[in-house]
Amino acid sequence: MRTAIYPGSFDPVTLGHQDIIRRAAAVFDRLIVAVMHNQNKTPMFSVEERMEFLRRTTGGLDNVEIASFDGLLADYARRQGACAIIKGLRAVSDFEYEFQMALANRKLNPELDTVFLMTSAEYMYLSSSVVKDIAVHGGSVAGFVPEELVEDIMLRTRKGD
Ligand code: ADP
Repeated sequence: MRTAIYPGSFDPVTLGHQDIIRRAAAVFDRLIVAVMHNQNKTPMFSVEERMEFLRRTTGGLDNVEIASFDGLLADYARRQGACAIIKGLRAVSDFEYEFQMALANRKLNPELDTVFLMTSAEYMYLSSSVVKDIAVHGGSVAGFVPEELVEDIMLRTRKGD
């Protein structure tokens, strides 16, 4: 049983995240999508909301679990018996930071490898920040987030919760 963890803030989950989740779920036996608690940036959606969004978009994938975690990713991965961390790579700009994190995580947990999955070209410039910017200014997030979440995200963003 090969378990991988896909960590992130997922604030909110985008089509880019969903693409990476599908790819990773096809390669590993078990995939844990883990929402991080310890973010420096103030999130727009609560951890519970972000997990609920993720659950709704991954319902069809039997080997995907949604979780949240606090503290060091390397320790969390060890507790879950994971052999890999999944990272989505967009542009070159993601690379330097992710490279640094991958080496740090390997030092903390030598059995843990970071696997980089390349995003589909159409999601290259998509991020949760872009989605939030659009929603806050009253634009439509259709085509940026999974279809079943479009209405909810726009509604909750406008309400400011
Ligand atoms: P962001 O706020 O930038 O969307 P997250 O912390 O939620 O970032 O991202 C979690 C992981 O998903 C990271 O590995 C990030 O590189 C990856 N990711 C985010 N957006 C995309 C995308 N459009 N395509 C591929 N990977 C992505």
